[in-house]
Amino acid sequence: MKQIYLDNASTTPVRPEVLEAMLPYFSEEFGNPSSIYPLGQRASDAVADARAVIAALIGAKPSELYFTSGGSEADNWAIKGFARANQAKGRHIITSAIEHHAVLHTCQALEKEGFEVTYLPVDGDGLVDPAVFEAAIRPDTILASIMFANNEIGTIEPIGELAAIAHAHGVTFHTDAVQAFGHEPIDVTELGIDLMSASAHKLNGPKGVGFLYVRKGVKLANLIDGGQQERGRRATTENVPGIVGFAKAAELACAESAEVRERQAAIRDHAIERILAEIPHARLNGSHDSRLSNNVNVSFEFIEGEGMLLQLAARGICVSSGSACTSGSLDPSHVLLAIGLPHEIAHGSLRMTLGRDTTMEDVDFAVDALKTTMGNLRMMSPLYEDYQAGRVGSIIEDMAAGTYRRAE
Ligand SMILES: *Cc1c(COP(=O)(O)O)cnc(C)c1O
Repeated sequence: MKQIYLDNASTTPVRPEVLEAMLPYFSEEFGNPSSIYPLGQRASDAVADARAVIAALIGAKPSELYFTSGGSEADNWAIKGFARANQAKGRHIITSAIEHHAVLHTCQALEKEGFEVTYLPVDGDGLVDPAVFEAAIRPDTILASIMFANNEIGTIEPIGELAAIAHAHGVTFHTDAVQAFGHEPIDVTELGIDLMSASAHKLNGPKGVGFLYVRKGVKLANLIDGGQQERGRRATTENVPGIVGFAKAAELACAESAEVRERQAAIRDHAIERILAEIPHARLNGSHDSRLSNNVNVSFEFIEGEGMLLQLAARGICVSSGSACTSGSLDPSHVLLAIGLPHEIAHGSLRMTLGRDTTMEDVDFAVDALKTTMGNLRMMSPLYEDYQAGRVGSIIEDMAAGTYRRAE
C-alpha cells in the first residue's frame, strides 16, 4: 500500500546526502575526538567543522554553539542551566502557554525548586502579544523562553520584537527554534537571541542530536557533568556521526529553505482551501499569515480525532491529531485549548505537516481520504445526528460568527 507521510513536525527521514556524510564516522573514522593520535584528531576536526558550519548558518561564533542529544536537552539546559546560574538576580521566568513540553515541563520542574513561572496566554492565532509580554516582566524576571514557531499549529512568534523587549528590561531571551531552524531564516545576532535550541531530526538529519546556542557572556550551570567535552560544559563522548549529519542536513536545509518554503506554502494553502471548501464544519487553527510553510492544522466538528487518525492510517496516511489520546491521555492539546478551542473541537483536530518532497498529489490524496473518512465518521456520530435534527448547533459556525460563548 502507498504510504503518504504528512507528519514532518514529528520527525523527518534522513536525506541520502546526510547518511553518506555520516557513514565513515561509524566505521573507519570511529575515533574519540579527545584522543591525540590522528584517528582521534580527525574525529575532533569533523566536530569542529560541523560546529563552524552551523554557527555560520545562524550568525553565531563556533564557540557559542554546544552540541546536545536533541531539542529537549537543549531546552532543559537553557532554562534549568540559566535559572540555576542566575538565581541570585531573581527567580522569575516568563514563557508561553503553547510551548513544547520540553519547555513547559522544565519550567514546572523549576517551580518545584522555588522559581516562579508566568505562562503567557496567546491570542486566537497562537501569537504572544508583545505588550502582554512586557507587562509580565517584573524586577526579579531573569529569563524569557518563547518558541520561534509552534510545532502543532505552525504559528511563528514575533521573536525579534520579544527579544528587544526582554533586553530593554535586562531579561535574557531563549527561543526553542526546533521547528524553525532550517525552515525559516534565523540570525541570532540580528534577532537578539541569547539562547536558542535546535534539533537535527526535524530537518532531515539524524535523531539524537541537537544544539544549544549560548551567546558569549551568558552564564549557564552544567546539566551533564563529567569529562571536558564541549569545552567542559557538557560531558559525554561526542556523537560524531550525528554531529556530522546535523551539519550536513542544516547546510542543505538552509541553502534550499527559500525555495522549499515557497513550494510548500502553495501546497499547504491548496490543502487548507480544499479542506475548508469541501468538508463542512471545519476550521483552520493557527495564524494565516505568520505560519510555517509546512503546517496544516484543522478541527472538525462532530467527530473524534482518534477515529479520523485510525481511518487515515488504514489508508496509508500518516498524520497526527490534536489530542494526546494516542499517548494514553484523554486531555486535548494544551496548544489548541490555549488558542480558545473548546474541548470537543480540540478533540476533533488533525495536523498534517509537509516534508521537502511532499507533492500536490500527496496532499490531494490525503484530502480525498479525509473527505471519505469524515463522511463515514459523521454518519456514525450521534452528535451529528443531533445537529442534523436541529437539536444542537454548530460550535465552529458560532466561533466563525463570533457568537460562541464558552460554558464556564
Ligand atoms: C521536536 C521538538 C522538540 C524536541 O526535540 P527532540 O530533538 O525530539 O528532543 C522540542 N521543541 C519543539 C518545538 C519540537 O518540535
